[in-house]
Amino acid sequence: MKIAFYDTRPYDMLWFDPLLKEADMEPQYIENRLSCDTVGYAHEAEAICMFVNDVCDKAVVDRLAEMNIHLILLRCAGFNNVDLKACAKKDITVMRVPAYSPSSVAEYAAALLLSVNRKIPKAYTRIRDFNFNIDGLIGWDMAGKTAGIIGTGKIGQKAIQIFRGFGMNVIAYDLYPNKDLDVEYVSLPEMYARADVISLHCPLTPETKYIIDRGAIKRMKKNVYLINTSRGELIETTALIDGINSGRIGGVGLDVYEGEADYFYENWSDKIMKDRDLARLITFPNVIITSHMAYLTSDALKQIAEVTIENAEAFMKGQLNGNVVAESDIHA
Ligand code: NAD
Repeated sequence: MKIAFYDTRPYDMLWFDPLLKEADMEPQYIENRLSCDTVGYAHEAEAICMFVNDVCDKAVVDRLAEMNIHLILLRCAGFNNVDLKACAKKDITVMRVPAYSPSSVAEYAAALLLSVNRKIPKAYTRIRDFNFNIDGLIGWDMAGKTAGIIGTGKIGQKAIQIFRGFGMNVIAYDLYPNKDLDVEYVSLPEMYARADVISLHCPLTPETKYIIDRGAIKRMKKNVYLINTSRGELIETTALIDGINSGRIGGVGLDVYEGEADYFYENWSDKIMKDRDLARLITFPNVIITSHMAYLTSDALKQIAEVTIENAEAFMKGQLNGNVVAESDIHA
């Protein structure tokens, strides 16, 4: 099987190359993102492999079907960027990696919180400039504070454990509360009223788009810290900016951003940033943004490569596994 990998970087190849060789599969690594303009690059492939910022809309799906490509391998958990309805119509199977080291993302959420709260990036930059002054670097103890977790799936559960490890009280919200989970589920308004930190761990669905909107931010405690390692569109960016400006939001850690597709994973250091909201967010002293890298551990990359190849093998053998994403999963 020849697989066209979109949006690939050297660290992807590092893990995929040996496994592909072992499985007797041939990679076609493409640096570009998947889009209407680039889908044709895969014309000799039997499957495509895509990542979080590739776009697989109806037009791309139609083109894939024309090229007789019937397998889309997502080397990620989220599938919000694939038109599943169009795939079903064209008999294209979509398979994902539902879990790859949930710890990697939950640990990163905690790292973002620590960085925002204890101003570690600022302190580091000062020391690099031989400035040993610590004025303006005051944080607060996490022990005894309340963390609100939205989405108590694989990553959210790890986050609950980690935040409890700091001595925090953890409350949670999930559309489908997990009865077996030892956590206090609350409504969103109650969470906003009580949480000192809110960390997002739900998927992006039509229901969760802008789950953190202007109204939600207004209800939050003054000085709340907001951490998003899930998907950028969970937060209404303009409302977030206003919330920071008004002082309602005390600190923000974002590994994802709603307009990230145009910027993340690319070097824009010698270009003019056109996205005013992103530029504004970057200027705030209490905001830390990283480039969708919460998953980026060797353990997670290894699992992503292994499960993606397993998915391709299962498809070839006609033995589809539980990693197939169906149209019915859109609202799951
Ligand atoms: P999961 O499917 O195990 O858990 C998601 C949880 O969200 C489930 O408990 C589900 O019931 C809940 N949920 C669904 N709709 C909801 C709603 N409307 N309101 C509240 N909760 C809702 O997923 P996971 O493995 O824990 O991953 C969570 C998300 O993390 C993924 O969807 C993805 O967007 C993101 N992610 C980010 C990175 C990164 O590198 N930044 C890496 C992996 C995953």
